[in-house]
Amino acid sequence: MAMTPTYATILTDDSSHQRLRKSKVDKKYVYAFADGDGKNKQLLGGKGANLCEMTQFGLNVPPGFVITTEACLDYLENDKLPEGLMEEVKKEIADLEKATGKGYGSGENPLLVSVRSGSALSMPGMMDTILNLGLNDETMAGLIEQTGDERFAYDAYRRFIQLFGKVALGIEDEKFDPLFEDVKKQAGVKADVGLSVDHLKEISAKFLDVVRSETGEDFPQDVMVQLELSVKAVFRSWMGKRAVDYRREFKITPDMANGTAVNVCTMVFGNRGDDCATGVGFTRNPGTGDNEMFGEYLVNAQGEDVVAGIRTPKPIQEMGEEMPELYEELVDLRNKLEEHYKEVQDYEFTIENGTLYCLQTRNGKMNAAATVQTSVDMFREGLITREQALLRINPELLEQLLHPRLDPEADAKAVATGLPASPGAASGKCVFDADRAELMGNEGEKVILVREETRPEDIHGFFASEGILTSRGGKTSHAAVVARGMGKPCVAGAEGIVVDVAARLARIGDKIIHEGDVITLDGGTGEVYLGAIPTIPAHFSDNLAELLGWADETASLKVMANADTPAAAEQAREYGAMGIGLCRTERMFNATDRLPVVIDMILANTAEDRVAALNRLLPIQRADFIKVFTAMSPNPVTVRLLDPPMHEFLPTEHDLLEQIENLEVYRKIVRGRQAAIATLDHEVHLPEALEELSEEHVNDALARKERMLRKVRELEEVNPMLGHRGVRLGITYPEIYEMQIQAILEAAMECAEKGVDVLPEIMVPQVITLQEIKHVKRTADTIVAKLEAEHGKELKFKFGTMIETVRACTRAWHLAGVAEFFSFGTNDLTQATFSFSREDAENKFLPMYNESSVLQDNPFEVLDVKGVGKLIKMAVKGGREQREDLKIGICGEQGGHPDSIQFCHDAGLNYVSCSGPRVPVARLAAAQAKLRADESGGLSVTQGLHAA
Ligand code: PEP
Ligand code: MG
Repeated sequence: MAMTPTYATILTDDSSHQRLRKSKVDKKYVYAFADGDGKNKQLLGGKGANLCEMTQFGLNVPPGFVITTEACLDYLENDKLPEGLMEEVKKEIADLEKATGKGYGSGENPLLVSVRSGSALSMPGMMDTILNLGLNDETMAGLIEQTGDERFAYDAYRRFIQLFGKVALGIEDEKFDPLFEDVKKQAGVKADVGLSVDHLKEISAKFLDVVRSETGEDFPQDVMVQLELSVKAVFRSWMGKRAVDYRREFKITPDMANGTAVNVCTMVFGNRGDDCATGVGFTRNPGTGDNEMFGEYLVNAQGEDVVAGIRTPKPIQEMGEEMPELYEELVDLRNKLEEHYKEVQDYEFTIENGTLYCLQTRNGKMNAAATVQTSVDMFREGLITREQALLRINPELLEQLLHPRLDPEADAKAVATGLPASPGAASGKCVFDADRAELMGNEGEKVILVREETRPEDIHGFFASEGILTSRGGKTSHAAVVARGMGKPCVAGAEGIVVDVAARLARIGDKIIHEGDVITLDGGTGEVYLGAIPTIPAHFSDNLAELLGWADETASLKVMANADTPAAAEQAREYGAMGIGLCRTERMFNATDRLPVVIDMILANTAEDRVAALNRLLPIQRADFIKVFTAMSPNPVTVRLLDPPMHEFLPTEHDLLEQIENLEVYRKIVRGRQAAIATLDHEVHLPEALEELSEEHVNDALARKERMLRKVRELEEVNPMLGHRGVRLGITYPEIYEMQIQAILEAAMECAEKGVDVLPEIMVPQVITLQEIKHVKRTADTIVAKLEAEHGKELKFKFGTMIETVRACTRAWHLAGVAEFFSFGTNDLTQATFSFSREDAENKFLPMYNESSVLQDNPFEVLDVKGVGKLIKMAVKGGREQREDLKIGICGEQGGHPDSIQFCHDAGLNYVSCSGPRVPVARLAAAQAKLRADESGGLSVTQGLHAA
């Protein structure tokens, strides 16, 4: 079909260069449905573009036209409609009159139209719509004549006056509704349908009076004035509070949708008799994804009745009995929609006196399971390609399938909200410390660990809990990262909750939660509920497995998991992880059987004592590595050497002081008991337990706690995250890294000797200079040489570094001289680039920064492409210049986020690593990243993302 050019074109002859010049004067603002470009949603809005497209491929759409989003933007900028717009509109109205044989404003055979909003992205209910334009005192007579139904005409009139009054003239519903209710009351009727013609006439007259008294003018009788005012009102609704809030909430930026179009469409009525109906349909079942007719309809009704729930609609299948021929037409409509759009459609239809019209269509929104099933089905049916099947799913949606979630039917009100730090939902009894969580969890109780913030020493409590709730910390806090790794729900930084561990309670405003009270967490929304709220279990279907198989074949990025324990490794493998990209060894130190040994190592005052403690840890770490390597065989496992500052393994100073105080009291009791026994002149039989702890025992305990207190004070740093941690620790206490490297390599050797194919990668954290990695590499080389000599077998392993300091990015070329791989630790790198403390930023100022668009995203969640991304690109370039086959990945939390994954693909990384349950999301995102990059012909897809 011939397209009228948007801009005046000056074309030179074919042999010279053709030029397209814009001319504002000749700009076209209005397109008939028969002419508009159905692909241009930016210009015509989603609804308008689809109405054009449906008209052009032969569906029965009532005639109409679209006024463009450009006209909207022009109107909002200049506070007046663009020049020439209303002339174009008049011309289109004349065409509508010709097409329908009716006259707009005609007293004999009036044409009525609807005026509907519609932007490039669907924003349901956020902008305005007016129906039945063209009614006035004169056309009413024509409508009655035309329909032979006076009641119908007055019902339409009173609805129009109120809607137009509200939307175009700004008169609130409260001015109209009481008058309507009065008439109903006087008439003694409950439902609107009980009102007679005279009642509706009376209501219409009263509504016209409201308009007069509220605006000081008569209701506009000129139908072109009605149209002009309506168009302006719909344009203004783009900047209405609802619409602005919605765009902010869903991060709809101007390059996604800018301004609303206005759709002017001939009215068709589903309420003009028993050969009329109205309804909504989905081309497939949006709940299950099944390929079947799905929808609801009502005979002799209008759309509003369905939406307002005045009458209960019937399932669409009943139409097969009630209106068999029209049902066949509807099936045909449904088939044509899917064949054309190659996507599940959500459509609206009206039947007017036996003629079926399609009023609207858009892509259907479905739950995750249905989206996955329809992708696989539509590919099998030959409707879409495999690439389309992959691209049509938002990867984030998959998360729904991997965690239990709250039953949406449950009617519960949250008592507190924190950050949605790890998805999933769980209920359990509150416990305020990790030991008790472990105790109760081991007894089979379902518990939720509630802490101000968690520390590595709480890890055993995590294992035993269904979910974690903290009142401090952000999405990269210890609680959040550990919970995500374990696939357990976590709400972090719920600042409205005050935890009082000593009193074994938490306060939320004036509510008190005692230990043992049941609460429910929704880690996907950050909401906390009192009591047990029902949940829906997770479901990893065959369809999902098949779809992700296609994703793996498509993607060039590999997807690894961040996993620290054999159990987490096994789970990650089930989710399709192709190896472990980050095994944080400190997590292995925290289990209850190891922590005391680690503390001995920290308390050691000499290298000898430290080595003695490390020698006890060595077999434990080795055994863990054997299990983790075996679970991942033959895929690589990247083991990071110890990273956190030592004090994290010790209790806080505050806790130690309290424990020492208690021990001193206890010592007095023991002494008092002895004094009592010595004083009494008869023999006293004490229960065994009381005899067990002598003063000597208590003194030992006290001495140990006092040593720990001294150490805590000694280790205290003003800013530990920038202090004595990472490779700095490894160099100052070389025995620690020696033990860890030995454990890794011995485990690898043992596996190799058993015939298990393993590929360990040793990774050094917090590196800033080549000298640091050389230092550690020398240790590794010595141990390898010794082991290989002892076993007569060559060891396969890689040696590399994390890149998580700004300096490392700038020195990448040098680092790659020794490092065989880089892994971007974007949690720390983001912290360093922004100079934000990752523990504090997320629940102090970041939300406000995001809300007010100072920063578009939370950089700890979505990689900051423009800042951190630039450093990454610099490091990739430097690293690969030095070592062509340098393997490069990312293991910060952003590694599981689809936009960040696109960036990683564009930047030429080899893999992303994320928490186990994010692996399926990342697999799909990696495939999409490749497909999008191919589509854009090598241009970076992420270039324009995340302006800040
Ligand atoms: C990182 O900094 O991105 C990282 C993975 O290390 P951690 O979060 O353990 O500091
Ligand atoms: Mg780090």
